[in-house]
Amino acid sequence: MHAYIVHFGELGLKGRNRVFFIRQLAENIRAALHDVPETEVTPFHSHILVKVFADVPAETIEARLGKVFGIAYFAPAVITPADFEAISAAALQLAEGVVTPATTFKVDTTRGDKQFPVYSQDVDREIGARIVARTGAPVKLKNPDVTITIQIYEDAAYCFVQRLQGAGGLPVGMSGRVLVLFSGGIDSPVAAHMMLKRGCTLDLLHFHLLPGVAQARASKIVDMARAVLAPHRLTAPLYLISAAPFETAMAAVNTRTATVVFRRFIMRAAERLAHRRKALALVTGESIGQVASQTLPNINLISQATTLPILRPLIGFDKAEIVAAAHEIGTYDLSIQPYKDPCSVHARNPATWANPEEVQRIEAEIDVPALLDVTLRDYTDEVWIRF
Ligand code: ATP
Ligand code: MG
Repeated sequence: MHAYIVHFGELGLKGRNRVFFIRQLAENIRAALHDVPETEVTPFHSHILVKVFADVPAETIEARLGKVFGIAYFAPAVITPADFEAISAAALQLAEGVVTPATTFKVDTTRGDKQFPVYSQDVDREIGARIVARTGAPVKLKNPDVTITIQIYEDAAYCFVQRLQGAGGLPVGMSGRVLVLFSGGIDSPVAAHMMLKRGCTLDLLHFHLLPGVAQARASKIVDMARAVLAPHRLTAPLYLISAAPFETAMAAVNTRTATVVFRRFIMRAAERLAHRRKALALVTGESIGQVASQTLPNINLISQATTLPILRPLIGFDKAEIVAAAHEIGTYDLSIQPYKDPCSVHARNPATWANPEEVQRIEAEIDVPALLDVTLRDYTDEVWIRF
């Protein structure tokens, strides 16, 4: 059997929020381990206990747990009866694998059950002495190389030496819904990932220039959405919207502000869908100064197109940092596959400081409200990503 004690960052979590957090996290861990047979995920005292009875490699379980948001760290643990000799035997066995005369160590015991007949410090001292006798390793209470942690409760005790880093963040599903403006590029999938990390549920929206619904459904955008959502097995709608009506209307307008006009158009379409879906914010992959449309004046103009908050989780990131994150979440290779994004058609020499009057004049000329109606009525396809 494999057992893990899952610890979460509890800071600031109180009352009902905490109950909700733990329940959601347990559910998300079950989802992450959906295809690992004979698995038990149980909230237990101040942590969650994961037991896997099936004969699967530890790496498989650990790779999955490592991606679940809301986990601060998780520890492969040995479970024993809440009995001093049993605990001591387990601790000695763990120690033998990892401490030698060249490694310092300490035993760190906490009693969740204050009725346990031996005080925590006495457990530390006695079991520590036995480990010294057996391995010759020296005890060091401050910054030892190895800490052998023992947690004792009424019905069981847990021993562990290894703490595996969790993904941090909050459990997906506890922070409400946002609508992500999802392009074929490198940045927006990373932005979507960061919102998942803060516990949000996602809807996705993509504007394309493909000839029809079939081509859009077969495009890399669907694969990218799946890649972002897969570790969390999150079901989400992906709105595939044709930019054709917009492009047709803009064909007659020769302007360097087209990118800003288009971005404002996207925001308005997104706002309507967000209202329908009760999403409370829009999300983009923008980062200040990265490209011409992302200067502060243009970001300001784009923001004015909607009253919804626009969250920009990458705003302070350098491109290299975003690229590293894209590699890590596995979207980079899809992002760099050739794809004709609507933005790329008006990207030639765009204005870094679009003139607000000009933007408004163009929007009146192309009749944005009418364009929006047609676009959302006749040119919007909804695909559900499911696992
Ligand atoms: P990305 O790599 O995310 O495409 P980018 O560096 O190419 O970003 P822009 O093309 O200026 O930057 O896009 C900025 C943001 O606007 C994107 O991160 C995305 O949130 C949104 N966006 C751009 N194009 C589209 C599109 N075709 N459909 C939906 N959202 C889009
Ligand atoms: Mg782009």
